[in-house]
Amino acid sequence: MQVVALYEVDLHCHTTASDGSLSPAELVRLAAELGLKGLGITDHDTIKGWNEAEEAAAHYKLQLLKGIELSTDWLGKEVHILGYELDSSSNYLKDKLRNLGEARQRRMLKILERLRNQEVDISEEAIRKYAQGDSIGRPHIAQALMEKGYIRDIQEGFERYLGVGAPAYVPRFKLTPEEGIELIRKAKGVPVLAHPGMQRLEEGIPAWVEAGLKGIEVLHSEHKAQDVTRYKALAEHYNLLMTGGSDFHGEACKPGVELGRWGVSLRVLQEIKELAKSN
Ligand SMILES: [Zn+2]
Ligand SMILES: [Zn+2]
Repeated sequence: MQVVALYEVDLHCHTTASDGSLSPAELVRLAAELGLKGLGITDHDTIKGWNEAEEAAAHYKLQLLKGIELSTDWLGKEVHILGYELDSSSNYLKDKLRNLGEARQRRMLKILERLRNQEVDISEEAIRKYAQGDSIGRPHIAQALMEKGYIRDIQEGFERYLGVGAPAYVPRFKLTPEEGIELIRKAKGVPVLAHPGMQRLEEGIPAWVEAGLKGIEVLHSEHKAQDVTRYKALAEHYNLLMTGGSDFHGEACKPGVELGRWGVSLRVLQEIKELAKSN
């Protein structure tokens, strides 16, 4: 484990509110211990970790960017859109997030049904144990499968049961990237394209800029050097913010991705806050 962060801020982290292994307070404490000056919390489809993270950030005197990560679909490719500093009091936002949560729940029940067809009997309670937040996903199901001895590790769970093409795979309901961007903008947040290098998304970028995209995540744990070069150039070309983060989920959920090893300077966090205020 590293002892000090390489960057001033890490703008992409998950907590137990979605599929991370640390609670929001534990995440903020770790960030402070590593010497980070700021942190962006970006759980999947939920803002439930915000309050706890805010309290902890005040305690450790850390700047906090309140974010979210939305999964969207573009021509069969999964496109993740980060949204920062959305208005948590917005009823529009609350409705949209509730709808996404319900769709997730329906999907989980379908996956359990398909698992039963494979002679794999996992209860909803067994999964809830791993999903402390309300955004239940396949990683939680995989953890329950592991506990019950059906698989040895998470990877096997995805290969044998849960991944694309596997017998219990159920596609999820998804927004288009434009709809994701619109949702974030209507909730007064700042939309940023997450880790585009993972999916080679450069061709979609012009339309998303048109829809109101404000930044590109250039630094990311899964980006290679050439991705960083490519997306930095595109961010400059479209005059977009360059953001960065580790996509930290905690050692138990996503081993080897260290908090603060990918990120940006504090100035970027402040720019995003300014941009959100002008929305
Ligand atoms: Zn992502
Ligand atoms: Zn993420």
